[in-house]
Amino acid sequence: MDLSELKGVGPKTTTKLNSLGIYSVEDVLFHLPFRYQDRTRIIPIADLRPGDQAVIDGKILSSHVKFARTRQLEVLVEDASGCIKLKFFHFTQAQQKNLAIGKKIRCYGEVKLFQRQLIMAHPEYRFTYEQVVDVEENLTPVYPSTEGLQQANWRSLSEQALRLIKLDTAFAELLPSPVLADYQLTNIKQALAFVHRPPPDVNQDLLEQGLHPMQQRLAFEELLAHQVSLRQLRVETQQHQSYACPMAGVNKVKQQFITNLGFSLTGAQQSAEQEIADDLQKPVPMMRLVQGDVGSGKTVVAAMAALQVIASAYQVVIMAPTELLAEQHYQQFKTWFEPLGIKVAWLSGKLKTAERREMLAAISSGEASMVVGTHALFQKSVAFNQLALIVIDEQHRFGVAQRQALRMKGAAADHYPHQLIMTATPIPRTLAMTVYADLDTSIINELPPGRTPVNTIVVNKQRRDEVIEKVQQLCERGGQVYWVCPLIEESDVLECEAAEKITEQLQKKLKNLNVSLVHGKMKPEQKQQLMQDFKAKKIDILVATTVIEVGINVPNATLMVIENSERMGLAQLHQLRGRVGRGAKESHCVLLYQDPLSENARKRLTVMRESTDGFYIAEQDLSLRGPGEMLGTRQTGLQRLRIANVIRDRQLLPKVQRLAKQIIKNHPECIDALKRRWIGENEVYSKV
Ligand code: ADP
Ligand code: MG
Repeated sequence: MDLSELKGVGPKTTTKLNSLGIYSVEDVLFHLPFRYQDRTRIIPIADLRPGDQAVIDGKILSSHVKFARTRQLEVLVEDASGCIKLKFFHFTQAQQKNLAIGKKIRCYGEVKLFQRQLIMAHPEYRFTYEQVVDVEENLTPVYPSTEGLQQANWRSLSEQALRLIKLDTAFAELLPSPVLADYQLTNIKQALAFVHRPPPDVNQDLLEQGLHPMQQRLAFEELLAHQVSLRQLRVETQQHQSYACPMAGVNKVKQQFITNLGFSLTGAQQSAEQEIADDLQKPVPMMRLVQGDVGSGKTVVAAMAALQVIASAYQVVIMAPTELLAEQHYQQFKTWFEPLGIKVAWLSGKLKTAERREMLAAISSGEASMVVGTHALFQKSVAFNQLALIVIDEQHRFGVAQRQALRMKGAAADHYPHQLIMTATPIPRTLAMTVYADLDTSIINELPPGRTPVNTIVVNKQRRDEVIEKVQQLCERGGQVYWVCPLIEESDVLECEAAEKITEQLQKKLKNLNVSLVHGKMKPEQKQQLMQDFKAKKIDILVATTVIEVGINVPNATLMVIENSERMGLAQLHQLRGRVGRGAKESHCVLLYQDPLSENARKRLTVMRESTDGFYIAEQDLSLRGPGEMLGTRQTGLQRLRIANVIRDRQLLPKVQRLAKQIIKNHPECIDALKRRWIGENEVYSKV
């Protein structure tokens, strides 16, 4: 139903609504209140407490303009129990005239303590004259809004929308009745009516956390729609053709490769390698995610996959999230592959024109069967030659849409390339099954032998001098240190300033050492240079905002100091800490914190001190997050959800998965409507 069905919605309002992703009457209904006000009862003035939001009903006792620091209108209102002052700092002359002594008035507002008196500042009010005016029957919804749309507008919109869908058969319950009964789901129209206009006796806390069964009913359907789409996508993917790369004959080269490595694969690497090798043999596109903690050796596994594809005379691309990591991979693959007679090409912003032309030629002719680069590989018009495998490394921002887009770009003559995605951001199993339902997953849950786990200590900031002393001793023995100083939630500028200050301080105290700063505001080339210098041991201490990239490998750096660690999330701390402990030497991580620690921060730091297991940390991370805290799109690659929140609603996930399978099997007629309602027609999900 079109927005124009709603009264009061002209072109201007339409634009505003569109900016919030609202394009239809149904969308208005899926824009849920985030708070509620109780205007269902009139509160005696004597019972008001600071912080209350309440309706009062009384008579104006006095009204006058006062000239304190600013001009203000003060109106005293009295009921049978007592009186309270209303204050208006902005008011019109008409308003002032209207608020006259003796008039009956009904107000709604927040009660505040002001100069030891209870007041209501700028309450909403209306005159009741002599007639009896009813209170609201339901809680009053408060909607997330945008500039120029008032709460009164929203209430009117949702009121009208609820009325319209009551009559509209096009907006229907999409789930079959037996399913509703089985899963104890309320009819969607009822659920929407409830959420927009809850009865007064509802548990308001539950409602404001989004955990009321009626809200969960809606979240459930949204998660279901996504789950069904992802599962379908997976089925569709498997109907496409890909390049079958047999294992026969590859063993010899794989064996040679392992011999050259000088170490043997861990059990976890072997089983991931097996799973991938098995997929690659098949003529359908592989879509596989390898989850493995930092340092678990994912690159080797990717290289083995590449060997199998190259042995079948096809091309492989590995894509890194940054130029720096791309270069690291380029060096690595050259070292590994050239002795095997495989030419490696790479594309980078760094290349000179001639070099670039040469690389492009090697790629398009197929002379280079291994290609390394960043996203730019696919944005620019690079011509591949029988591209059969795309490896995406360390890219947790890589969502469904990007995965699909990339696959299409790599497609040629009805063949889609295989895809291997590698991530060091482990997410718990139930969650993974939901957000990666279009992928198969392999897990590398074992670190190579000989690594001593990073020893983590939690240290009060006041003892920073002792830490600096330790740093000095370490560097004098040839060691290197990362000193990370993130300032969460504040601006980039502040972040840089804090890092600059610390750099200066360290430089002053450690005159004989090279202390350098790398921060987010620097140009990529500048950052890259600094990282190179650090790798080449020209820098002893690298002070960094959080820009140290995932995947950077400097085994000689065996100590990391993290400032303000109490303010950081577990996932982020774990990622950072993964930069050390990459060699055989014992590594340490010092988490500096500032007193006082919140309960939650204390728990986080304890988890960090006690564990280096990414999967365990991810589980803890989830349970320590409040229900309001999102695991962003960024981490999961899941597209925007309107109502559901995968963290808050994770207890719904097993049920969602079960029902998704049932729907696909027994009620396929619901699928399109579900997708249209929750995902929209233009999304990549449905297009592939
Ligand atoms: P990540 O999974 O974080 O990408 P890498 O692939 O960069 O990890 O591997 C980290 C380091 O461990 C590299 O130096 C790599 O050569 C080494 N490595 C990988 N697998 C093994 C193994 N089985 N035994 C010993 N070292 C290994
Ligand atoms: Mg890596």
